[in-house]
Amino acid sequence: MVAVGETGLDYVHERAPRAVQADAFRAHVRLARAAGLPLVVHNREAHDDVERILREEGAPSVVMHCFSGPPEIATRWAAMGWMLSFAGPLTFARADALREAARRVPADRLLIETDAPYLAPAPMRGRRCEPAFLVHTGRALAALTGVAEDALARVLAENGKRVFFGPRFVVR
Ligand SMILES: [Zn+2]
Repeated sequence: MVAVGETGLDYVHERAPRAVQADAFRAHVRLARAAGLPLVVHNREAHDDVERILREEGAPSVVMHCFSGPPEIATRWAAMGWMLSFAGPLTFARADALREAARRVPADRLLIETDAPYLAPAPMRGRRCEPAFLVHTGRALAALTGVAEDALARVLAENGKRVFFGPRFVVR
């Protein structure tokens, strides 16, 4: 086990009342803190409450999975030391605000992910997402940050190792 999650708040689907979601989220933050593990956070249109609960509970290291917030929030959360993970939507035609958000995140706070089986990146959009498609999301991130693809791939891999395996990870 390398992390607790994903957990968080979903105000789009709201399959549980917000108060119930908040209680479960708080319990997961405490669990991550007690276990000394990173917390992988799901957030759909719940930016303020997610941030408030993480601040109140004193969250350990945080990965914002499938980040979907505006650029100002990306700037603030990255400055707080949280990792921002971007998925297929980074490649979508109408996602200029999301690309601007990614542009504002320092390299050492960036991750990419599939969110498989959902959110396959362009040009695979609509298919069942799988790890092989991650290259398209990575290329989009390289293009918008101006970092060479190989260099960015190394940075992202190191970020992932650092967050999920920390000093226990041994490169072979
Ligand atoms: Zn999620």
